[in-house]
Formats: sequence, structure tokens, C-alpha cells
Amino acid sequence: MDLTYTGGDHLGPTRIIQVREPGIGLEGLLVIDNVAAGPAIGGLRMAADVSLAECARLARAMTLKNAAASLAHGGAKSVLVGDPKMPAANKERLIRGFATALRDCRDYIVGPDMGTDENCMAWVQDETGRAVGLPAELGGIPLDQLGATGWGLFQAIREAAADCELDLDGARVAIQGFGAVGRHAARFLAAEGARIVAVSDSQGGIADPAGLDLEHLLALKRDGRSVTEMTRGTRLSGDAIIDVECDIWIPAARPDVIDEHNVDRLRTRLLAEGANIPVTDAAEARLHERGILALPDFIANAGGVICAAMEYRHLSQSAAFDAIRDKIRSNVRTMLDSAGSAGISPRQAALRLAATRVERAMRLKRWSLY
Ligand code: NAD
Repeated sequence: MDLTYTGGDHLGPTRIIQVREPGIGLEGLLVIDNVAAGPAIGGLRMAADVSLAECARLARAMTLKNAAASLAHGGAKSVLVGDPKMPAANKERLIRGFATALRDCRDYIVGPDMGTDENCMAWVQDETGRAVGLPAELGGIPLDQLGATGWGLFQAIREAAADCELDLDGARVAIQGFGAVGRHAARFLAAEGARIVAVSDSQGGIADPAGLDLEHLLALKRDGRSVTEMTRGTRLSGDAIIDVECDIWIPAARPDVIDEHNVDRLRTRLLAEGANIPVTDAAEARLHERGILALPDFIANAGGVICAAMEYRHLSQSAAFDAIRDKIRSNVRTMLDSAGSAGISPRQAALRLAATRVERAMRLKRWSLY
């Protein structure tokens, strides 16, 4: 695993732990970025190509996301080297081994991420007693099934709509990635009268300016099929969904899909970041220049981690959804108001908001140097 890392600043990381058990092929890392607000929550990612630099970057993103959402949790991330599709028994051995090695890291609560799911969290809970994103039988709230992140994204869009003179009733929406985040966002937006004019998944996309049949799209995904199997609409290949004229464009698939080379192809008024880091810094600056409002990932897609924090406190599903709505709407309002009054981009305003909260929490610690 690549252990090159040159980052780090006054916020963190506070601890970097490498775990190796060569006998069972276990190689993993935990980066605890900051715990001033409370024990850190962050996902466990399993992939063949994880690295320390990536883990540290994701851990910082969790610090900012949790602080922005005013959760009593710091940020962390852990990574395990391996193919997530390996035989279940091998995967269980690695995850249990990793969790056991981290048993004494009491300020880290493990959540699911790429390559891990609720079963993996049940193994971690069994070994350490500290995991979120658990199966319902262990008190978990099935956040992807219910659409916690899509619900939060919808709330962020609802709060920001007036700022770009947008009425959700009749608004045209294009969604790249029709998984847990994308399809629930579509559902909540359509219930407000929005028209889903284009969607895509890993096989390609489909578009219809008159509006796609959402029930048909959802049924296809339920059956494990692609949105490209829609009988009505125009097929889109590659990243052609970027060119679709719309009012709201939602990246809900991969990182860095919008960069300085393709950003000017977007024809939208609002871009709501469902995926993590879907837009490069340069492209986001360009959107700001063009007057397109971009709602930053760590504000707009915080629904999942807010839900996880509510689960950790044994709160109900409806309390979790209320918390997501209230926290995300209030954050979007604060971010847009301060961006407007300071003449800065929404991301710059959101970063200030989150970093100020982390620094304030740090000042309240006995070990504070501030
Ligand atoms: P998912 O696996 O359920 O869905 C991903 C979707 O993207 C699938 O439909 C897949 O076919 C599609 N896709 C993959 N490559 C694509 C491409 N090149 N073009 C178009 N579509 C493509 O994942 P998810 O849980 O919906 O997460 C989506 C993104 O949101 C990820 O970046 C994830 O890290 C981020 N995120 C998820 C949550 C959550 O609660 N699930 C929370 C915060 C952020």
C-alpha cells in the first residue's frame, strides 16, 4: 500500500494507525483526523488500490461534514486492501481481524463505505461494539433503502431553489448515477412536481425533455437492470448526460466527473453534489464564475452520516429524517447567506463554517493550545 503522505495541518490528523497481519493477508489503515467534537465517525472502505493519502483526504472530508452538520462527532476513515467481491468467508476474516486490531481505538466509530455493507458492520459491532449502518435486527436504520442521503440532497435543493429563482414544480432534473443517492433524490424531487429529464448509470443514460417515467426507471433498478432499457427516450452514451439542458444537475456516481475540460458543457442553474468530490476545485470555481450555484458535497450529501449518528443514539427513523431536514436546510441557508455577504463561493463559505466549528470545539478541550 502506498504510504506516502505529506498533508496535515492544525486540525489533524490526530492519529494514523497501520494494521498488518501478513499471515492472513490483512493490510489496513485508520486515519483519525479530528476528535474535538466527539468520537469520530467515518466509513471503512475496501478496495485493491487504497492509499494513505486517499484515506487522510477522506478522513478530513468527514471532519468537515460532521462539523458542518453539528454532530457530536469528529472525522476519520479506514481502508482495507482487498477485492470487496472476494469470497464472503475471507472478507469476514479480514474485517473481523481489522476490527479486533482497532478494538481499543475508542474514539472511532466504523460506518459502511465503498466495498463494505451492513453485514460487514455487524461483524465490526460484534468485535468492538462500535459500528453504525447496522442491519435492522441490530438496531440499524437502513439508510440506503430509505434514501437518507437523497432526502438530504432534496432538502438542500429545496432551500437553495429560491436563490436561483427556481420553482421545483416543473423544474427539469438530470441525474448522473441512479443508485441509492440518485434514485431517492429523483423520487423526492418528482413528488414536488420536478420533471426527471435525464438519468444515467454505469451502462449509459436516457433522456426525454418531456420527462421520463420515474416508476418505470425505479422498477428497472429494482430488477437489477439498467436505465438504458427504458423503451421511451433518447439513449445517451458515455458522459453525454453532462450536455443535457436542465435546471438541476445532480452528480450521484463517481468522483471528479466534472473538471475544467467539461464544466462549460453544463447547461443548468443549480448543481447539487450527491457524490463525494464529483467536481474538481477548478471546475467549481468556473461554475461560480458562470453564476451556476453549486451545493458542496459535504453540506448537501450529509444525510447518510446524520442518519448514522442518530442510529448510534438509538433514535427512530423519523427522528433521523427530521434531523436531516433541519440540519441540512439550516446549513444551506447559513452557507448561502454568508457567501452572499462576503462575496465568496458557497464552498468557501461552507469550509469557513465547518472549520470554525472544529476550531471552536478544539478550544474547549483541556489539551487546547488556542
Ligand atoms: P450506488 O452504488 O448505490 O449507486 C451508484 C450509481 O452510479 C449506480 O447506478 C451506478 O451504475 C452508477 N454509475 C457508476 N459509474 C457511473 C458512470 N460513470 N456514469 C454514470 N453512472 C455511473 O452508490 P450510492 O450509494 O448511490 O453513492 C453514489 C455516490 O454518492 C458515491 O460517490 C458515494 O460515495 C456518495 N455518497 C453516498 C452516500 C450514501 O448514503 N449512500 C452518502 C454520501 C455520499
